[in-house]
Amino acid sequence: MNYALVTGGSRGIGAAISKELASRGLGVLINYRSNEEAANKVAEEITDNGGVAELLPFDVTSESAVDEALECWEGAHPEDRITTLVNNAGIREDNLMIFMQTDQWHRVINTTLDGFFYVTRRLLKGMLTNRFGRIINIASLSGLKGLPGQANYSAAKAALIGATKALAQEVAARKVTVNAVAPGFIKSDMTKDLNEDELKKMVPLNRFGAPEEVAVLVAFLASKDAGYITGETISINGGLY
Ligand code: NAP
Repeated sequence: MNYALVTGGSRGIGAAISKELASRGLGVLINYRSNEEAANKVAEEITDNGGVAELLPFDVTSESAVDEALECWEGAHPEDRITTLVNNAGIREDNLMIFMQTDQWHRVINTTLDGFFYVTRRLLKGMLTNRFGRIINIASLSGLKGLPGQANYSAAKAALIGATKALAQEVAARKVTVNAVAPGFIKSDMTKDLNEDELKKMVPLNRFGAPEEVAVLVAFLASKDAGYITGETISINGGLY
């Protein structure tokens, strides 16, 4: 069976992506760091709807944890392949640069960038050998325009977009595509502390997006139909640039 690995698949956008990909026939590996209860709920919903889902917990910032978890999974699934990777795990720790703590800088950069690097490098060999793969990186509007109070997050997401463009060129000859999705404000735990009523006035469509709307875009990029799109960053932000 062909599987998709969704990092940070336990909640928010990642949970919606996991469900959408499962509904389109992929087995889904739901990665998370600590929230097993939430991950279980997503897996149950998928299996209740006739899909295939497994939990695959690891911290994306730990090279050894990534390698161990994937080696173990591959050992237990000799007939299966991970053909789709969604690098979605991410955190926000906002602060004005002048007040930003060193660990706030590193935690945000490491989760997005080290996570992308460790997981993607580990899965690339299989995709290149199979001559098929889909890698979708969840970036952000912050990585395109930069947002005050988010120098760490904007830097991480801008770097992820740069890596997307570089890797796309490295692996295109083997029919592996690499794209980024840049959401604006999407309703999730990550944005629940924001003042939605105030902020939505900045959005031309006058609302926050739903995780399911991002999931449909990711599922399209993961599909065979999207085979001629690579190195691209697609915004999904209600018109907010
Ligand atoms: P969320 O609701 O806070 O969920 C974050 C997910 O990432 C959780 O599943 C969490 O796992 C996982 N995670 C965090 N650190 C991890 C680590 N070190 N290793 C493994 N998993 C880890 O966030 P969200 O709003 O869905 O955001 C998903 C992605 O979209 C992020 O990359 C975010 O930057 C991006 N994004 C979000 C928005 C937005 O408005 N929401 C806008 C632009 C971009 P646990 O459940 O175990 O904690």
